[in-house]
Amino acid sequence: ESEKKSNFIRQIIDADLAAGRVPGGVVHTRFPPEPNGYLHIGHAKSIVLNFGIARDYGGKCNLRFDDTNPHKENMEFVESIKEDVRWLGYDWEERLYYASDYFEKLYDFAVELIGKGLAYVCDLDAESMRAHRGTLTEPGKESPYRNRGVEENLDLFRRMRAGEFPDGSRTLRAKIDMASPNLNLRDPVLYRIRHGVIHHQTGAEWCIYPMYDYTHPLSDAIEGITHSICTLEFEDHRPLYDWAVEHVSAPARPRQYEFARLNLQYTVMSKRKLTRLVQEGFVSGWDDPRMPTIAGLRRRGYTPAAVRDFCERIGVTKSDSTTEMGVLENSVREDLDRSAPRRMAVLRPLKVVLTNYLALAEEWLEAANHPKDPAFGSRRIPFSAEIWIDRDDFREEAPRSYKRLVKGEAVRLRNAYVIRCDEVVREHNGELSELRCTCFPESLEGNPEGIKPRGVIHWVSARHAVDAEVRLYDRLFSQPIPGKGAEDFIEHLNPVSLQVLTGCKLEPVLAGAGAGDRFQFEREGYFCVDSRDSNEGGLVFNRTVTLRDSWAK
Ligand code: ATP
Ligand code: MG
Ligand code: MG
Repeated sequence: ESEKKSNFIRQIIDADLAAGRVPGGVVHTRFPPEPNGYLHIGHAKSIVLNFGIARDYGGKCNLRFDDTNPHKENMEFVESIKEDVRWLGYDWEERLYYASDYFEKLYDFAVELIGKGLAYVCDLDAESMRAHRGTLTEPGKESPYRNRGVEENLDLFRRMRAGEFPDGSRTLRAKIDMASPNLNLRDPVLYRIRHGVIHHQTGAEWCIYPMYDYTHPLSDAIEGITHSICTLEFEDHRPLYDWAVEHVSAPARPRQYEFARLNLQYTVMSKRKLTRLVQEGFVSGWDDPRMPTIAGLRRRGYTPAAVRDFCERIGVTKSDSTTEMGVLENSVREDLDRSAPRRMAVLRPLKVVLTNYLALAEEWLEAANHPKDPAFGSRRIPFSAEIWIDRDDFREEAPRSYKRLVKGEAVRLRNAYVIRCDEVVREHNGELSELRCTCFPESLEGNPEGIKPRGVIHWVSARHAVDAEVRLYDRLFSQPIPGKGAEDFIEHLNPVSLQVLTGCKLEPVLAGAGAGDRFQFEREGYFCVDSRDSNEGGLVFNRTVTLRDSWAK
């Protein structure tokens, strides 16, 4: 794994520690997902940052579900998030929390704010509130309910909680500054009424729910978070964050720091868009191998180490940018080059008959499992008179630069003999049906006298081959920034992002491959056994990534 790079957040932490600003010297971070979807590669950046800091500074990192929007959240998402954080290699130990654990405390804090004259119950409906809010060039207008007395506010807020008022009829608002140049400070809503939702943690207990901008800073304060790290779009919310922790008797004074979110070319990351892809059936689910979700990447064959390595490589900055998909692919390619055993698989089979090899004979040849690492050992692969090669590895005529099999010429079979193509057999319709070739029996160790093979190709013994389905994936969108200049990002979906090859021929040792096993199919790329659709009745492989960067065009 690559070395941990310093970044501006780590520099802030170093300075805070040096100046004695961190209570007890224990750095405490949190990762706060909303359980309204599966985690994606952007979340991985935040996870690696927050859990990585806790690990490297001997600190702590909480996993906290930010669950204040119950109508969009559910337990499937909660469970998937836990699974994905664990899969990435991080452990929150006993530090698993829900913002909803604090609903009672948050209510008490709100009562405290009302008591201090810093919050009021407002009867404006959403539309009037928007009209009162003003714009960047125009100050807001104060709500007619802004100067309600403390006692009246306390009574109304208590009755809001008791369920006396319908949805949308009242809110609790902070009393800050309707003329502030920062719109977030123009008396933001702290609580809204929401009847009839069953919260996945608190059930039907509450009919008022605190807003994110109020819940988040106070949850951080309750948990004793020292460095609350979030993405840049919350920069403008920081004054409200500070306002909240300053004005309640919170047990700690966390600070918020913002970094640039990850954007990746040719994919989308917003949960609203990912949800649409799933719900409208453009992909097979949250774990479709084309999705940028952690579950999708896992099913595609990515390793946790590759995802962590990618997050380290892109670094943590304060300026927004869009990362090329090739950077992510390089991380997994390098990891799998080290860790994946080599196998031979013919994806588009063409029959080759070795006319001078005894029809019923077979022999087992030794093949190394990894060209650079003897620790992987070797395996035996069967050889016989009929083999499969890839259709793309044969041409009747070709220029010298074509390093594969050509009619009348020789090629070396990987881990086996040199063969020469003597005859091409075609169907009635002209389609290639098989090649008839000569096998040079003395060619295992070196080239036969006077024969110069053009190159080396892979193959599989026909009699011993195992059949499989192989799924090849391309970018999910055909535009680097999906939706840019279009009505709807869906218009930019790549119509050929999935290619399914059936009747692929694998060397027999692959019959025993199980869900998630990863291999390099020589000359083809890295592949893994699909964890959902592969079974004893039929092997299914996903191509994780090609051998070379196919994006750099
Ligand atoms: P969306 O805007 O799509 O709803 P979100 O940011 O609200 O996504 P959360 O579940 O709230 O999703 O995110 C949890 C944490 O992950 C937050 O701290 C957020 O800043 C961080 N995060 C989300 N997306 C990215 C990203 N693309 N890059 C880096 N961090 C991210
Ligand atoms: Mg969100
Ligand atoms: Mg969020």
